[in-house]
Amino acid sequence: MSIYTQMHDKYGSPTHVAEFRLFNLNDCFKTCESCFYKRSGNQIIDYAQISTFAAELSSNGYQLETCYLLPTDFFENSENLKLLEREDIQAVVNQFLYLGVACTLEGETDFTKFKEIINKLQIKEVEVQINLIMEKLYQDEYYREIRNNVSKLRSALDGKCVFNIAINLGQPLSPKELERIEFFVHNISDDGIIEINFTFLYNDLIPKKIKSKKLRNSLKSMSQIGKMYNSVEGPYNERTLLRKPAFIFKGSSCHLCPILPFDEYVFINNENYQLKKANFIEFLSTFATIEKLNEPTFDECEECTNLKTCHGKGYFMAVKEFELPCFLEASYE
Ligand code: SF4
Ligand code: SF4
Repeated sequence: MSIYTQMHDKYGSPTHVAEFRLFNLNDCFKTCESCFYKRSGNQIIDYAQISTFAAELSSNGYQLETCYLLPTDFFENSENLKLLEREDIQAVVNQFLYLGVACTLEGETDFTKFKEIINKLQIKEVEVQINLIMEKLYQDEYYREIRNNVSKLRSALDGKCVFNIAINLGQPLSPKELERIEFFVHNISDDGIIEINFTFLYNDLIPKKIKSKKLRNSLKSMSQIGKMYNSVEGPYNERTLLRKPAFIFKGSSCHLCPILPFDEYVFINNENYQLKKANFIEFLSTFATIEKLNEPTFDECEECTNLKTCHGKGYFMAVKEFELPCFLEASYE
């Protein structure tokens, strides 16, 4: 059962749930396909302000769901662990139910220190996103390595963790790749879903035209993935940009992200989506600004039964920014 389904069961309709994505991890030497993340120089300037913002969201009725530390492999170097020992970062993380970390779980891993730190935090669970290394996808040894590390980490944290499979999209996936990804999801992911990352959106050196092309390719792959995994929850669920906002923190900036069907967030590096300051009033003000960009784009939208959800997620913002087609069109191509 996915975290979201659990959250839904626990808190009812997923109204007012928020997540933070903090880009503060560095130095990754892994080889995940289609990784365009900046792997060094990631930092957050003002954790105190982020902590205050989290508290403000909470006092305004938002359940703080997951705080992710991104974008590199969390277990790749000890500096990431040191970050998590910092009081100002713990002050943010401790307000959330889940700490989210991305990793590859390759090789020999030692989770002793991580366990110590997690046990001191007040979070409920760690969400571990395992990025698949596509070039090793068909190696049995790679699969066994991940399985072993999952068991090791689960036992170190006394089961206080949930594992997901993640891939970077941007390129079309072959039927063979889809089949093997399904195998990993089926055997490793606790919630049976796959997390999609659009790493290219975070890279300022990639021209918008290329980003647009990669997103279109991603939509096609997502609709194929969705057919396989999303039998419990359809892409057109009730989560909206206002009810479940995701905030991306990079340097001193804070961005609000529209959602694609299947609930993947789209980072748009443009001032309309950037909060002037990370606080609740600016969140509402930014939301109001981008809502004006959220007009239904296609003739079919008016009569479409998905209009409410497409609109609620801010899908039309992404459509305008990246010249995307209707999601249904991408599904049936
Ligand atoms: S996706 Fe993350 S873990 Fe993989 S290479 Fe890129 S930064 Fe490293
Ligand atoms: S599914 Fe397509 S036609 Fe329907 S509202 Fe969304 S974008 Fe418009």
